[in-house]
Amino acid sequence: MRVALALCALAACGGPGSGSEVDGGLVDGQSPDSPDAPPGCARPSLDAPWLRGQLTTNLAQLAGAPRSTATQRATARTFLSAQLMSYGWTPMRHDYPGGQNVYATIPATMGGTGKEIIVGAHFDTVAGSPGANDNASGSVVVLAIARYLADVPCRNAPVTVVLFDQEETGLFGSRAFAQQRLPADVRAVHTIDQVAWDNDGDRRFELEAPSAALEAEWRAAAQVVGVPVTKTTTQGTDHEAFRDRGFSAMGLTEEYVGGDTSPFRHQAGDTPATVNVDYLVLAAKLSAQVVLQEVAP
Ligand SMILES: [Zn+2]
Repeated sequence: MRVALALCALAACGGPGSGSEVDGGLVDGQSPDSPDAPPGCARPSLDAPWLRGQLTTNLAQLAGAPRSTATQRATARTFLSAQLMSYGWTPMRHDYPGGQNVYATIPATMGGTGKEIIVGAHFDTVAGSPGANDNASGSVVVLAIARYLADVPCRNAPVTVVLFDQEETGLFGSRAFAQQRLPADVRAVHTIDQVAWDNDGDRRFELEAPSAALEAEWRAAAQVVGVPVTKTTTQGTDHEAFRDRGFSAMGLTEEYVGGDTSPFRHQAGDTPATVNVDYLVLAAKLSAQVVLQEVAP
């Protein structure tokens, strides 16, 4: 729709070669860890050795087939579920009339009382488009977050990663999922849609309709990752479904308002060949940093 618009092996984490986003402001070797993280609670490096390969492979797999019809979407769900399972999480199906979301709730490890954090992206496409950017890109970022979280030993809140069905036909999946939760039980909902186009090379992302608190969280994460961000008021995608029901929700996207968004949206040309993998990696790091800030001390 959108009309207006880690299992990072411990030995491989944080080693040589990590933290090299000098250009964007992240000092070489800088850790995303909080300086007062308890012993044994170190976060994984954002520069996970698997990140780029996983994003690329998953995007090619998802965008290898359209995800419009019921059968096509079921095939995509099978793939997404298998990925979540491979990181150690238990994929669940959320049925609603007409469709089915896939999600996994990654529990807190610290017995804390932190409210749930929801991170989601729609996996469906319009007919006739492979949907590499819209929205295999957001889907693979959500999968990457799920994998990062497998390597976060100290989590003080549950995180639900969810792949929404039927965004393109009217936010049906996200609206149905929002009805499964109460705003009072959820700290934040982050949705990710179209994050693999950066033709002007400025690495800028847009934050769609964030509250002041969420905007501050994302700006802090953007500083760690070294990317510029702009706040917009764009609606029309999954975060709107949650905000309509009173949740603290916002979206991440490429420069949709800023005029640097994929010209192939909803077209046959939205293929893996036309996405910007460097930018997609930045989207994953930025989103993961937000979630790590929220769940890991
Ligand atoms: Zn989309």
